[in-house]
Amino acid sequence: MDKLKIGVLAMQGAFVEHEQMLQSLGCDTVQVRKVEHLADLDGLIIPGGESTTIGKLLVDFGLAESVQERAQQGMPVWGTCAGLILMAKEIAGSEQYRLGLMDITAVRNAFGRQVDSFEVPLAIDEVSSEPYPAIFIRAPFIEKAGPSVKILAEHNGKVVMARQGSFLASAFHPELTQDCRIHAYFMDIVRESRQKA
Ligand code: GLN
Repeated sequence: MDKLKIGVLAMQGAFVEHEQMLQSLGCDTVQVRKVEHLADLDGLIIPGGESTTIGKLLVDFGLAESVQERAQQGMPVWGTCAGLILMAKEIAGSEQYRLGLMDITAVRNAFGRQVDSFEVPLAIDEVSSEPYPAIFIRAPFIEKAGPSVKILAEHNGKVVMARQGSFLASAFHPELTQDCRIHAYFMDIVRESRQKA
């Protein structure tokens, strides 16, 4: 089987770190800035950054609809932090642009100003039996999720990771650790979806 080719939306935010992690796992990567870059991707990551900015650039660069189209045709998409916000159908108290791929409501900057960023060992049974070192930076959480959404992790009673089919959302930043387990998990989703196609 050919190598997987995974795109990382490269408008703003932590995209290089995602690429490095994917490459360390043997993946080919593409920095996605134009519609052409989506053409032969097996999967896509929407990185952390500033969700209003990334959303605006998605629209300005004419990428928003093409990403939605590819996703609806079955391309796996994983949003981290700001990316989670862009994956959501609803964003509490905000009309900002979102891709709306997952039946979830995201709350922005949900852990309060006092604890802007922090790291916790997070239990994610679906990914691994050992906790994952999750780094949260002005992170969102998932306030509501529809019946077809599977909750994968919670922190302090707040949902911080979920999956709906081949769409994945995490409120933290796996690309800022040395721990590849979640990238490997996403690659499994991408591999499965390629086998089905
Ligand atoms: N607070 C940012 C937002 O609402 C997300 C932060 C991040 O991606 N680290 O868009």
